[in-house]
Amino acid sequence: MSMRDFSQDHRWLSINTATVRKSRGVDLPLPDIIEACARRGIRAISPWRDQVAAAGLDAISKLVKTHGLELSGYCRGGMFTAVDDTGLKAAHADNRRAVDEACELGARCLVLVVGALPGALAGQAAHKDIALSRNQVSDGIGALLDYAGSCGMPLAIEPLHPMYAADRACINTMEQALDVCDELDPTQSEALGVALDVYHCWWDPKLQQQIARAGKARLLAFHVCDWLTPTTDLLNDRGMMGDGVIDIPRIRGWVEAQGFAGYSEVEIFSTGNWWQRDAGDVLNTCIARHKSAV
Ligand code: ZN
Repeated sequence: MSMRDFSQDHRWLSINTATVRKSRGVDLPLPDIIEACARRGIRAISPWRDQVAAAGLDAISKLVKTHGLELSGYCRGGMFTAVDDTGLKAAHADNRRAVDEACELGARCLVLVVGALPGALAGQAAHKDIALSRNQVSDGIGALLDYAGSCGMPLAIEPLHPMYAADRACINTMEQALDVCDELDPTQSEALGVALDVYHCWWDPKLQQQIARAGKARLLAFHVCDWLTPTTDLLNDRGMMGDGVIDIPRIRGWVEAQGFAGYSEVEIFSTGNWWQRDAGDVLNTCIARHKSAV
């Protein structure tokens, strides 16, 4: 199977709205982001819950429909771990709301950043038992899967680079994510799968093998940006496609060989560079690099 040709147009480009959450260092409201994408013929976005909440779910839902935009995903659910039962229940309730929002917006999937050691993100981990966290994550996804399945909203586990294992996600490889998928959804119903982000997974010696294991049924989203050398911030120094060391076309080839035919979603967090630029210029660059470097 040959790869889709991205060089002629940007019909398979999606913009994760974090990429332009700031323009010239100033917060850019989601309605403005949507208008800027629509003006450029960008057909899909993947918005964040905080951006949607700030503008209002109904308003965003209307705007998405007005422009005929698709959502390649909705960011994000997850953060399943907690120190006690009250915390676990609160996480579950919040995740159900995320599923409801994703349904209202017609998202392709709800992306899950699963959580890690409780408290670590705030600077003080409550314990050191990452195995316990992984069990809580698996239980949490299982419980959410029942609800999401009843609404027809696929859940996409996003493995995060191991540098985030303590504070953001204790699922760190495609293999781990697919193990959870196979345990909770053995029939490969397409209700549960993975969001493959090249930033998190490019280094993995088992990447090609695990993409083949995932197959079309489990490949729910494909996120692109680049890994800069040096990387100056562990969270907010992602590179524009083509500016770093990730062989994105090679990975896209592996994904498309499985039959993936969805959007290539640009997701760049960049405090020092891209968030300092004009959002229109950033979107223009995303379109150009989608054609030349993805
Ligand atoms: Zn991602």
